[in-house]
Order: sequence, then C-alpha cells, then structure tokens
Amino acid sequence: MKKLIAGNWKMNGSLAANEALIKALRAGVGTPACDVAVCPPGAYLAQVQGLLAGQDAIALGAQNVSQHDNGAYTGDVSATMLKELGVRYAIVGHSERRLHQAENDVHVAIKAQRALAAGITPIVCIGESLAEREQGMTEFIVKRQLSAVIHLLEQRVGDIVVAYEPIWAIGTGKTATPEQAQAVHAVLRAQLQAATDKAQEVRILYGGSMNAANAADLLAQPDINGGLIGGASLKADDFLAIVAAAR
Ligand code: PEP
Repeated sequence: MKKLIAGNWKMNGSLAANEALIKALRAGVGTPACDVAVCPPGAYLAQVQGLLAGQDAIALGAQNVSQHDNGAYTGDVSATMLKELGVRYAIVGHSERRLHQAENDVHVAIKAQRALAAGITPIVCIGESLAEREQGMTEFIVKRQLSAVIHLLEQRVGDIVVAYEPIWAIGTGKTATPEQAQAVHAVLRAQLQAATDKAQEVRILYGGSMNAANAADLLAQPDINGGLIGGASLKADDFLAIVAAAR
C-alpha cells in the first residue's frame, strides 16, 4: 500500500514562514512514491490551500475538527468548512489535545465520524504515556483508544488512517525503536482485522521524533505505513528526506 507522510506543524508558522516552507517543499518534492500532506494551524489553512494550488503531490490536512456539525460552538471549525477549504486529512485525538483540551476516546471517535461524513480522511492518534508503558499497559491503552473508534464507525473504520504516537516519544527526541513500534502496530492491525475486511488497507502511521536519520528503519517495518511528523516537518530538507525514505 502507498505510505503516507503527514506533517503536523502544530501551533507554528506565520504567513511568511508558511510561504517559504511550501515553496521549498514544492520545489523539492518531485513525484513522491508516497502520499504527502501538511497540516498547518487552522488560521493558515486558506493561505496554504492557495500555496498548494496547481499541484497534487502535497495534500492539505487540518490538525483538528469539531465534533459538532454546525451552530453555537464558538471557536469550533466543522468538517464541512474544512472540506470547503480543500482539506483532505484531519488529525483527530492528538495527545496534545487529549491532554490540554480534555478530549476523550468518545470525542475522538465522533470527530473521526464527522470527518468521514464530510469526505475527509481522519488521522486518528493513539498512544500510551511513559508511565503506562512502564506499567506494561501499552497494549491495553492503545486497544481501548482504537476500540472507541471501531465501535462508532463499524465497517467504515476501514477508511481511516491510524497514527500510533507514544506520548513519551513526541517532541522529546526519544524515538520508539523500529521493533517497539512494529510490535504495537501489529497489535493494532490484528484489532482492525477483527473489525473490518479492509484492515490490510488501513495505513498505520508511526509518530514520535521521526526524522531524516531514523525514518528509513521505522518505515521498513511491515506494519508501519507512514509517519506523522512534528518537529521535522517544519524544516523542508528534513521533511523531504522523510518523504524520500517512504517507498
Ligand atoms: C506529533 O506531534 O505528531 C509528533 C510526532 O511530533 P514530533 O515528531 O515532534 O515528535
């Protein structure tokens, strides 16, 4: 299956910095062997949509989507609105949102459902904390997080992207080893297999300090079908090197 490399810019960027980054990505991306997406902050989606116009190597993604359809939800942005801006992917349930915005498994599942209903592919983030890993709870935690999504989406879970992001590896420079990541990805694949006929087509991304130096080894694992890239997605050369490693 075609891998997916998605850049999560988090709350970084400016009109000028975004323009420079997209220009450099467009100049260097060529015809990638994988799917590529960038997820700028919501305030810049329209700008980046414009900067990406006229090419199809790099798709636009959002970092979040409202769990509501429309109406009195101040500050929220709906999946339909994102779709109008040309958004193809939406990250849901990033651990930073689970932590700072108190998003729980049910919110995340509803967000995934809203995205799918609008024709946007949700990138559903799951992952354990360091304390949970040390207590031997990794499998329990990631299965619980994914099962909420499977429960709500049923067969349509075959249309999502999953991102396994161990919290202890995000922004810390500490990467899961390829073997550690593959072990969790295999658990998730088996869980998907029990839920949908399309489990083999579901891309399971790894995220957590993936960079130009470690990407190839992680991406060589049988159940690692791409990457969700934070810090390294803000530097064109690093992001393009990861894209080149995904074949
Ligand atoms: C992320 O935020 O999704 C992420 C993986 O960040 P980083 O690559 O910086 O660890």
